[in-house]
Amino acid sequence: MDKYIRNIYRGVYTVLVGMRVTIKQFFEPNVTHQYPYEHDFEKKRNVREIPKGYRGQLYNRIEDCIGCKKCEMICPVDCITITGTKLPKGEQLWDSMNIVHLKDGREVIGIIEGDDKKIKSEASVTLTNITSRLGPQEVIDRLEPSGVESRTQTLSSDEISRVVTRNPVVFYLDQFDIDMSLCMYCGLCTEVCPTECLVMKDSLEGIEYSKFDRSDLIFQFDKQEMYNKSDASTAEAAD
Ligand code: SF4
Ligand code: SF4
Repeated sequence: MDKYIRNIYRGVYTVLVGMRVTIKQFFEPNVTHQYPYEHDFEKKRNVREIPKGYRGQLYNRIEDCIGCKKCEMICPVDCITITGTKLPKGEQLWDSMNIVHLKDGREVIGIIEGDDKKIKSEASVTLTNITSRLGPQEVIDRLEPSGVESRTQTLSSDEISRVVTRNPVVFYLDQFDIDMSLCMYCGLCTEVCPTECLVMKDSLEGIEYSKFDRSDLIFQFDKQEMYNKSDASTAEAAD
């Protein structure tokens, strides 16, 4: 009989101990999030910093894309689709440009004066027709800043990390889609991109882009507003 009563006592006691923990937690702040409805968990202390160079969502700075299709050709899972319309022979949308990556993360876009585009140490580089942006994910509209077309800037070689040359643009890019639901984040497409306009975001935005519908994971980067489409009637279909 004693044993029977002791068992009841232990049972009730252990339930009360468990309930004490449960009731205490009931009044504590939540540590879980109703994802994807709640996105602001990055502001809380328990999120680690995303390392530089992390392979996140792909982003194409379409203003610098020359439509060479190297990324589309190398993609092992065919998740990039590009269609373009080639301009008549001898015509081009934009001239060759230099993208100067500075050591502090900024980029300056313009045309390097002189024929020699190699940056010699202890030399300075003068760019004309420049515009600038903060980093690889910041978009500029090349057609907008007509008032700054004559701007020049001289940079010392100490400031410069590397220089990328973008060839003249001879395509209207009618479609530049990336299906991130297929992408396996190998990064090959960014490796072959000659203008380095295709990048993988190493920010929270680059890892936090879940969708309920898979079709919403097809990202479209073409910006038709960049073009003066009245010229399109003279264009001929690309191969
Ligand atoms: S990261 Fe790899 S799989 Fe994804 S689009 Fe680029 S080449 Fe294709
Ligand atoms: S490799 Fe780069 S420049 Fe060529 S089509 Fe792809 S994104 Fe554009």
